[in-house]
Amino acid sequence: MKDLKLYLKRGKEESLGRFHPWVFSGAVQRIEGEPEEGDVVSVYTADGRYVAKGHWQVGSIALRVLTFGKEDIDARFWEERLAAACSVREAVGVVRSDNDVYRLVHGEGDFLPGLVIDIYGELAVVQAHSVGMHCDRMMITEALVRVMKGRLKAVYYKSETTLPFKADLHQENGFLWVEGEEDPNRAGAEIPIDKKGHVATENGLKFRIDWYHGQKTGFFVDQRDNRALVERYAKGRKVLNMFCYTGGFSVYAMRGGATLVHSVDSSAKAVELASANVALNFPGDSRHEAFARDAFDFLDGMQERYDLVILDPPAFAKHKDALVRALKGYTKLNARAMSKMPSGSILFTFSCSQAVNKEQFRTAVFTAAAITRRKVRILHQLHQPADHPVNIYHPEGEYLKGLVLYVE
Ligand code: SAH
Repeated sequence: MKDLKLYLKRGKEESLGRFHPWVFSGAVQRIEGEPEEGDVVSVYTADGRYVAKGHWQVGSIALRVLTFGKEDIDARFWEERLAAACSVREAVGVVRSDNDVYRLVHGEGDFLPGLVIDIYGELAVVQAHSVGMHCDRMMITEALVRVMKGRLKAVYYKSETTLPFKADLHQENGFLWVEGEEDPNRAGAEIPIDKKGHVATENGLKFRIDWYHGQKTGFFVDQRDNRALVERYAKGRKVLNMFCYTGGFSVYAMRGGATLVHSVDSSAKAVELASANVALNFPGDSRHEAFARDAFDFLDGMQERYDLVILDPPAFAKHKDALVRALKGYTKLNARAMSKMPSGSILFTFSCSQAVNKEQFRTAVFTAAAITRRKVRILHQLHQPADHPVNIYHPEGEYLKGLVLYVE
């Protein structure tokens, strides 16, 4: 094993002292041993005191910490970290016979920066956001299969679009492991998971997970609790699920007793998925209809008086520099919806932009209320669920924000 060492500039160990898991390139004094991106490198203060160990990377973040201890990053390390992640999911109650969709590893939130693992029943989807996690993927997979104790049949690697572009890895999506298959990526390999229709269960509802082609790892696992809240409000209401993707909110609204549910997404594929998921749970139910339309077009032309509206748009700001425009976007979208909602309606409105914080989002929605001169009460303040934990030393990990509003 290479002995790689990073020495910090004097005084630059402060944030690591508070267990923040990143080392910025500006804090680096010198490096010993010529690491390659993805290597495990030990971090020392200017005086030569050991502080942490993590994956070295190229860019403004030079290193992401895996441990503040002295342990090796080996099979035992991965097994312990993944077993701890499993214990947390057991503790929060997402591993149940009526719920087998959950996030097992949420990057920094599980002290594993750059790694995401979502579980869809017998399938695990692994997503690496750093070259380091990519390099360690086989050790991670072996540990994962062991800690899941026979519950998995396949592990799929979906990092084609999440690995740093500049690293030039040209990694294709493919299987990391399939039960009983030596080479799961060979032509003709027996894959026990349906590519088109792998069905998993969330809170007793069935969802066809598009793990093979779909966005992210195939499903937006992070809205589970918020979908359940929509179910509680849906009785007797006419529901508009804007930016529906796989129709998660729609299916819950149907079970909650909505009189009508309209799902809208600009992607025809998403609309198809939403309809398929509603049909899977409520076959032949005519309360649901889906539309492949642009959100603003749909809101402008809408005739129906929906009294429960869900707005869950894609991240408007992926970076800090897009912040001002993003906030205006949230205001515009929310104002458009509020202006058309009858008195006594409920609005679920979300932002999943990491660059937009809770207060900024709330201000954007406040502005929408003021512009439309509606009387608005905040009923709930929503966030990501417990299987997307926030590392207390890394508050940036809090990304999903939502408000439930009563609009008069
Ligand atoms: N609410 C979903 C996740 C939404 S992801 C869930 O619970 O699973 C955001 C969705 O917005 C994507 O499916 C994307 O296709 C859609 N989208 C992006 N821009 C849009 C636009 N201008 N109008 C309508 N839908 C759009």
